[in-house]
Amino acid sequence: SPQIVWLRRDLRMADQPALHAAAKAGPVIPVYVLDDERAGDHAYGGASRWWLHHSLESLGRSLGARKSRIVLRKGDAPQVLAALADETGVSCIHAIRHYEPWWKEAEDELRDALGEGRKLCLYDGNYLMPPGSVTTGSGDPYKIYTPFSKALLEHMPPRDVLGEPETIHSPDAWPDSDALEAWDLLPTRPDWAGGFRAFWEVGEAAAHDRLDWWADRVADYDEGRNLPSEDITSRLSPHLHWGELSPAQVWHKLKDKRSDGWRTFGKEIIWRDYAQNVIDQFPDYPRTSYRDYDERKLWRNPDAGHLIREDLECWQRGMTGYPVVDAGMRQLWQTGWIHNRVRMIAASFLVKHLLIDWRFGEQWFWDCLVDADYGNNGVNWQWISGTGVDSNMFVRIMAPLTQSEKFDAAGYIREYVPELARLSDAEIHDPPDHKRGKYPKKMIGHKEARERALEAYKSAKS
Ligand code: FAD
Repeated sequence: SPQIVWLRRDLRMADQPALHAAAKAGPVIPVYVLDDERAGDHAYGGASRWWLHHSLESLGRSLGARKSRIVLRKGDAPQVLAALADETGVSCIHAIRHYEPWWKEAEDELRDALGEGRKLCLYDGNYLMPPGSVTTGSGDPYKIYTPFSKALLEHMPPRDVLGEPETIHSPDAWPDSDALEAWDLLPTRPDWAGGFRAFWEVGEAAAHDRLDWWADRVADYDEGRNLPSEDITSRLSPHLHWGELSPAQVWHKLKDKRSDGWRTFGKEIIWRDYAQNVIDQFPDYPRTSYRDYDERKLWRNPDAGHLIREDLECWQRGMTGYPVVDAGMRQLWQTGWIHNRVRMIAASFLVKHLLIDWRFGEQWFWDCLVDADYGNNGVNWQWISGTGVDSNMFVRIMAPLTQSEKFDAAGYIREYVPELARLSDAEIHDPPDHKRGKYPKKMIGHKEARERALEAYKSAKS
């Protein structure tokens, strides 16, 4: 009988264990369900919807070349899939396991909705090791990155990767499908995605091209990854997030490189696994602080007054008066991505210089990043603001101007803050007031912000 493959963030043909198993068992009906309600405040943001559209289009083309297709449906995923299983007489729905709490719930509900005689078969495939499987000696999952990473490395290299299924048989009749265009995932007016189109190639083939490109450069990563003006990070994050590429494919492609660059890079890929382990243990992590602070004393809450909301908007629009922060926030707006060093600087600026609750930053990134990831985003925001289960970073207040000089962000600032482009390398990190022109003055001085933040921290802890 036919088999459904339920696609989510695993939009690839190769190393796709659910597709593989389904293709072996019978004719395959690949299905993507757009379920806008289930994730609540983490429904896909604008940038994610843009990526999703192009990724579905690309996978649809690849399946089309194999005389297959994707059936697109909208609605509550378990209900839609159970109805489709009835309609098509499938015996099994195959899917790669996901760890966002709404997907775990949906998997449980689907199992119930399928009833007797039909099953949901779940596979691991989006992480180096299945989240929850790397444990301490006493069998508990890890909460802290470093011991987790050491323990996970013991299991490397990861499982062997699968190729594309040899044959993909079609069902006798295809169920109806929505038209992708009718989902309106792309911006209409204004069309804000011009910068995205210039910056990204979406889809599995593009992900492999980028990985090939990266294999020749990973040796430079150790030195280069902190330099936002240079292109020395992989930029694989959206491909990994959407599952156009699996981390096992990345690991096997690069593992023989044996450079310091590769070793450092491998640890970053492990951060991705770590973040899933955290949300697997603490499903509300991207919404909830885990430290015993009086947060009312820590944050100036934007809901509490228009001046603070204006501050939040200055940060969002890249108008803080700190060029490296503004370059980052404008890169985000223009391309849906920010260099990691600048993500840290910009996030630290929001929570420490502006004392704005990290959740407002998390939500803005969620809406604007093409790699917006429930685990990675939540874990990194909590790590920066020192509110999570790992290290307490609140008192490590990054100095944006020093960071900008140290990591030589001049070229990056020229690209994203063009009104400062004519300034010299010596002046561009911290332009003198009379050379700022239309570029704003600093919202707050670094020294003053630092003292205010430490003071707030002290009272929130006491
Ligand atoms: P590379 O440096 O080439 O790293 C390779 C891969 O490792 C990345 O593609 C990513 O999958 C993983 N990785 C690297 N750093 C981290 C990290 N710190 N945590 C988890 N995984 C990591 N990353 C996301 O994928 N989605 C997010 O929503 C996200 N939000 C972030 C929010 C903040 C405040 C900060 C400080 C970081 C965030 N990151 C997020 C982590 C990191 O900035 C990006 O993964 C990285 O910049 C992506 O670029 P790259 O692919 O060139 O990374």
